[in-house]
Amino acid sequence: MEIPFYDLGKLHKGMRGELETAFQRVIDSGVYVLGNEVEAFEAEFADYCGVKHCIGVGSGLSALHLTLVALGIGRGDEVIVPAHTFIATWLAVSETGAKPVPVEPDAATYNINPHLIEDAITPRTKAIIPVHLYGQPADMDAISLLARQHGLKVIEDAAQAHGARYKGKRTGGLADAAGFSFYPGKNLGALGDGGAVTTQDDTLADRVRHLRNYGSRKKYHHEIRGHNSRLDELQAALLRVKLKHLERWQARRLAISRVYVQGLKASPLVLPEVLSSAEPSWHLFVVCCHQRDQFRKKLEVDGIQTAVHYPKPPHLQPAYRGAVPEGFPVTEAIHKTVVSLPMGPAMDDQQAERVVQSCLNALD
Ligand SMILES: *Cc1c(COP(=O)(O)O)cnc(C)c1O
Repeated sequence: MEIPFYDLGKLHKGMRGELETAFQRVIDSGVYVLGNEVEAFEAEFADYCGVKHCIGVGSGLSALHLTLVALGIGRGDEVIVPAHTFIATWLAVSETGAKPVPVEPDAATYNINPHLIEDAITPRTKAIIPVHLYGQPADMDAISLLARQHGLKVIEDAAQAHGARYKGKRTGGLADAAGFSFYPGKNLGALGDGGAVTTQDDTLADRVRHLRNYGSRKKYHHEIRGHNSRLDELQAALLRVKLKHLERWQARRLAISRVYVQGLKASPLVLPEVLSSAEPSWHLFVVCCHQRDQFRKKLEVDGIQTAVHYPKPPHLQPAYRGAVPEGFPVTEAIHKTVVSLPMGPAMDDQQAERVVQSCLNALD
């Protein structure tokens, strides 16, 4: 029996009727951009995150980018980002003309190390973007304290952390604003691209709303030079269906993580460390293994698909060649050893047990 890394087809097949009903509703409505579905989804997702505002946009990258623009960040500014993240966090900063300034992660949690942030702050620093990587909330209290002391904005990159909690509070409401992605593979995914900004700040929400729609508050009246980045009606309608299942899916991910921890805690694999303040969304279950390639090959022979998040950090990508001079040894060491085990709401405990058994055999 094959175990895919993440079985999106199986998940959607099980809810096909509901998705088709939503699809039909949008077809018949005659409205496909900025209509009732987007408005309803925004209200429902804001409620889920426990925040005042949600603004649906075209992607997670765009959510971060538009938030930075709305905060007035651009050329000549610096924004602190994790060295260890998906490249989109950096690209959002670069797109504004500002410079991403990477900071090494804590080797145990994979998230940005707050103790190293202060050294990276300069007079040009305007904001910090902590990423809740793999679904575990970053150390937000430490980051918020630094931000307050230095007058910086904090934007959560919550692309992997829908529904995760920090000290009992949902991501999306832990800082000045947050960017979410609804890329199909995320915990809450559309059947295409999508994203959202969440915030408690009325002014910021209003600016992002204009920026996503040509800088326009009133049709054909453009106060600022905006963009075209809107969550569309069809994706919003499908997301509304999927949002109703999200809590159940998160519980499934948590159950799988428990099977993995229980089965693998005595093995030589390094398991993810969860802070006592954090309830991860378990977007990914990432372990470290020194003979990674050999380990992955053995699992593959057993029919178990794994993945690597990520094989090459942003500072070693051609896109950022020469942009950041220093090396990032913690980040590079992580990238050489991490493996992501199968994870997703369509997986049952038996499949997770089989992954555990296969890992133990591979390490023998
Ligand atoms: C997926 C992802 C993004 C970008 O989201 P898109 O919707 O693909 O643009 C940003 N940051 C992180 C950490 C991500 O995982």
